[in-house]
Amino acid sequence: MFLRTFIASAILASFAVTAVAQEKVLNLYSARHYQTDEALYSNFTKTTGIKINRVDGDDAGTIARLKSEGSASPADVILLVDAARLWRAENDGLFQPIESTTLETRIPANLRGKDTGKGSEWFGLSTRARVIVYNKEHVQPTDVDTYEALADPKNKGKLCTRSGAHPYNVSLFGALLEHLGEPKTEALLKGYVANLARSPVGGDTDQIKAVSSGECGIAISNSYYVARLMKSTKPEDIALMKKVAVVWPNQKSFGAHVNIAGAGVAKYAPHRAEAVKFLEYLASDDAQRYFAEGNNEWPAVKGVKTENAALDALGTFKPEIIDVSAVGRNQQKVLQMLDKVGYK
Ligand code: FE
Repeated sequence: MFLRTFIASAILASFAVTAVAQEKVLNLYSARHYQTDEALYSNFTKTTGIKINRVDGDDAGTIARLKSEGSASPADVILLVDAARLWRAENDGLFQPIESTTLETRIPANLRGKDTGKGSEWFGLSTRARVIVYNKEHVQPTDVDTYEALADPKNKGKLCTRSGAHPYNVSLFGALLEHLGEPKTEALLKGYVANLARSPVGGDTDQIKAVSSGECGIAISNSYYVARLMKSTKPEDIALMKKVAVVWPNQKSFGAHVNIAGAGVAKYAPHRAEAVKFLEYLASDDAQRYFAEGNNEWPAVKGVKTENAALDALGTFKPEIIDVSAVGRNQQKVLQMLDKVGYK
């Protein structure tokens, strides 16, 4: 009896070993978690046979984990949701360069990480704009149509933002530093602090809600939070969106600040070929549409159209054209300025 069981388990064990050897896997460290991404990943598994093991975290947590794992890290693909964070990961040596004609022809050059001569280190996959939201009753759109205008004394006591040091704001201010130079950016940050209606608290959605309630007149928000509320069927969201409107900032100058979600192959990726295949898949038309759609964003690949009523309603806009690496480079300077002006 014992022997028979032993033989049976030995046979099972050898099957298991064979199965493991044949199973292709990919370890994805992701700071992005949407239901729709799940379907995207399972479609990849279906078409390639490569199983995706996902390790979720936020941007900072994912970077910290990769650093502590070092060369023993099982990570193959690193997916982050902010340009400055991608730059940080790049400069911490967490990516490896990859050469891929598909990625290099499909992802615009200004949305890619460092080109090492052996290929780029990471690739933008979707874009979002940082827009200005205002209370239609209390604020005139012409008073808030640029990032600079939000620092004007006429908007005193009206501005609400999430923490100045949040990556979305650090990236915005890093871009403004690139467009305006240091003295003007520091003056702008000082003006923001002077114009705050309350100490920064909550996320972008909380700022939009506070604009709707009248506690604030103006907020800064990523476009997808606005789109999410526009698409909501909850009566309270429908009511709150009736009170607010959106301005595309700086349309007569450098354009609205655009941030990205992007991914690269991890430095010590045990499954490099699978990782490249996965990135190329994410750059395909269908995956681009789906990836962007899941979070009400725009595809990074030009010419890929989304079918999204909220984004259509927001309309087209002039985006800034900036090398996203510049935003990363500027973040240290921005953090110093935030400290100096007391923007928490
Ligand atoms: Fe977000």
